[in-house]
Amino acid sequence: SDECDKRRDRRKESFMKQAIATVKKTKEIQEKYKVFTKKSFGQNFIIEPGVVEKIANAAIQSRDELVFEIGPGIGALTQFLCEKSNQVVAFEIDERLPVVLENEIGFDHLQIVLEDILKVDIDEKIREFRKPGQKVVFASNLPYYITTPILFKLFEANEEIERITVMMQKEVGERFLAHENDKEYNALSVITQYRCDVKKVMDVSRRVFWPSPNVDSMVIQFSFHHKYHLEDENYFFDLVKACFTQRRKTIYNNFQNFVKDKALAKELLEKVNIDPSTRAQQCTLEDFIRLYEVTYESTGKGKN
Ligand code: SAM
Repeated sequence: SDECDKRRDRRKESFMKQAIATVKKTKEIQEKYKVFTKKSFGQNFIIEPGVVEKIANAAIQSRDELVFEIGPGIGALTQFLCEKSNQVVAFEIDERLPVVLENEIGFDHLQIVLEDILKVDIDEKIREFRKPGQKVVFASNLPYYITTPILFKLFEANEEIERITVMMQKEVGERFLAHENDKEYNALSVITQYRCDVKKVMDVSRRVFWPSPNVDSMVIQFSFHHKYHLEDENYFFDLVKACFTQRRKTIYNNFQNFVKDKALAKELLEKVNIDPSTRAQQCTLEDFIRLYEVTYESTGKGKN
C-alpha cells in the first residue's frame, strides 16, 4: 500500500500542477478563449489552489454526494469538486463558459446547466439529478451581488439539502454568524439559524481573487438541522422581520405594529418574559419562537 500511497501522491501532484486556480493558468485560459471577466456577473476568479481545495474538502463528505455548484466560472473550484465527488452539476449564467469548462475540466461526471440560478426551480433540479438516497450539497464562490437572494432560495427549498458551503463577502458572513447582542445580529441571522447550524470555515483575503475585489471574504457553511417545526413558518419569518424593522426602537414598538394592538403586544411580550423595553437585537432565537407561539395562538392563526 506504500506503493499505492506514492502513486496517489504523484497523481495529486500532477493534478495540482494543472490547477486552474493560479494566476498563470487563469490568464492563459482567458487569453485562449477570450473570456475576460465580466463585472456585471460578479466574476472574481480564485487564483489560489489551496483555497479551492479547502472549500471542496469542507463541502463534500463522501464521493456519493450530489454536488451542485453555483457559478463555476472557468472551473477553479469545479475541478476540485469533481476530484472529490462522482457527480457535480454546475449552474452558470455566462454562455461563454460551458465550452471552457468542458475542454479544461472534462470529467465525465460534470454536467453544466446554462441557467440563471435565480430562475432555476431548485426542487425540480434536485429531483431531476438526485439518485435514491443520495445526499445533496451546494458549494460556491458566490456572485456577491446576489448572495442573499441565492441563499434564501436554497433555504426555502422543499427538497432536502444536507449542507451549503459558500464564499461570500466577509461583512455578510458576519451577519449570518451573529448571535444576540452582537452588532451584526438581525432578522437574517435569526431566520437562518432557525434552519441551519452556521459555522465559519475560513477567512479569505481579497488577494486570492482575480480581479481583486474591494472587500475581504469568508467561507461559511450552513448545515440543516431540522430542530424546529413551526406550523406557519412564513408567519414566524414575518414576525421576526417586523421586530427588527427599526433597530433603534424597542421590541414593543416594532412588535405592536405587527399585531396592530398595543395592549395585546405588551401582554404577549410579558407572557413570554420579554421585557417590552428591550431591543430585538437582545432576543434569542428561542425568545422569538416563544413569541411566535403565543402570538400565533392569540391572533387566531395569524390573521393579523
Ligand atoms: N467559481 C469560480 C471561481 O471561484 O473562480 C467563479 C466565481 S465568480 C465569484 C461567480 C460566478 O457566478 C461567475 O462565473 C458568474 O458568471 C456566475 N454567475 C453570476 N450570476 C449568476 C447567476 N444569476 N446564475 C448563475 N451563475 C451566475
